[in-house]
Amino acid sequence: MKITGTTIKVDVAIIGGGIAGLWLLARLRRLGFSALLIESEALGTGQTICSQGIIHGGVKYSLQGKVTEAAKLISEMPAVWRRCLKGEGDIDLRGSLLVEHQYLLATRSPRSWFAGLLASKVVNGRAEKLVGIGADSYPPALRQAAFRGTVYRLDEPIVDVASVLNAFADQHHEAIVLCEGPAVPSGDGAITLRYLDRPMLAIRPSCTIFAAGGGNSAVLWASLQQRPLHMVLVRGPSLPGPMYGHFVGTRDIPRLTVTTHCDTAGHLVWYLGGELAETGVKRDRQEQIRMARRELASLLPWVDWSPTQFATFSVKRAEALQSDGSRPIGPSVMRDGRTLVVWPTKLALAPLLADQVEEMLRKLDLRPRPADLRLLEDWPRPKIAVYPWNREDLVWS
Ligand SMILES: Cc1cc2nc3c(=O)[nH]c(=O)nc-3n(C[C@H](O)[C@H](O)[C@H](O)COP(=O)(O)OP(=O)(O)OC[C@H]3O[C@@H](n4cnc5c(N)ncnc54)[C@H](O)[C@@H]3O)c2cc1C
Repeated sequence: MKITGTTIKVDVAIIGGGIAGLWLLARLRRLGFSALLIESEALGTGQTICSQGIIHGGVKYSLQGKVTEAAKLISEMPAVWRRCLKGEGDIDLRGSLLVEHQYLLATRSPRSWFAGLLASKVVNGRAEKLVGIGADSYPPALRQAAFRGTVYRLDEPIVDVASVLNAFADQHHEAIVLCEGPAVPSGDGAITLRYLDRPMLAIRPSCTIFAAGGGNSAVLWASLQQRPLHMVLVRGPSLPGPMYGHFVGTRDIPRLTVTTHCDTAGHLVWYLGGELAETGVKRDRQEQIRMARRELASLLPWVDWSPTQFATFSVKRAEALQSDGSRPIGPSVMRDGRTLVVWPTKLALAPLLADQVEEMLRKLDLRPRPADLRLLEDWPRPKIAVYPWNREDLVWS
């Protein structure tokens, strides 16, 4: 469709306001490019708002005792994010830190203990073994004489994802717009910006970056895979305080990954991922809740789980297609002419994705030019997506 009427020229149009699009926006604007991010729902809809917010440093990918490529690529990310959390780097994320460290928790089972030991050795200096049963430094849930496992404190911070999204929205307000319906470039590359009965605007970018997660499927030449998860939420008066960490099991992924969040009523909610969520895609809601109860009772038997309530929901991870369907080892950038399709693969890897896109734009010889975004001053802006534990459609039982 040919768009007539008002046209705004920009260097880069970014489609999608999850962590990938937002980090790219911040990076490109810092480099002087005129960039505009177009979001069709709320910022972070899809994967980002559902993420556990862990800024991995590689331990999760070292449970077989090997320094994998994935572990190497992600190892610098905690330092990069920590700079931003101090107000330095691509974006000022002061106030977005949830906790400084998460933990690696090995049970007494020989395989769990050994995997924990190997992973802690492999990450060399980035996992500190905490000693002493009931030690004060343990997470509150493990300050029990009955706990006989090993606890490593990891150099992996956890961020409050909504605060991160808010930081981008506030600091790049003028360059983020809401579009009614999915944004899709027309044959001549222009993107129509529409919202209710407002006059349409045409955005004419020199380069378009699809950072739309599952929405990247709109680009027919870019092949994506979607790997589902069945996540679990737990709340109730007997939750033994905040908990952040991977319980090591027998596989190369954590048996259970727990993060803790606060719902709108101010109550703690445990958010469970890991193997439970991966294998849980084969279980219906009731079965998944039964399994979650069994796992928690087995790992933390001193807690009374009977008064807790559980909810579950399904979500898909969107990534570049791999021949064996496995997780890509790092971010992915595909290109056709001046259209890029990108996936960070992990929230933590968004800065590395920005490095790769920066490099690609250099090769494309795209030079920064100023753009006049004044016409967008009163255009609607997207809100921030709602955390899973605050969703009204969840069924708790
Ligand atoms: C349950 C879960 C837990 C996770 N935990 C972690 C973790 O702890 N640490 C970690 O590093 N990673 C984690 N991840 C991975 C991480 O969340 C994702 O890799 C990352 O959030 C992907 O971000 P994205 O910006 O590519 O996509 P998304 O977050 O899916 O964002 C895509 C955005 O594009 C918008 N959009 C789509 N189509 C269009 C269109 N046509 N026009 C305009 N807008 C459009 C959507 O509305 C959405 O806002 C987790 C993932 C899941 C699912």
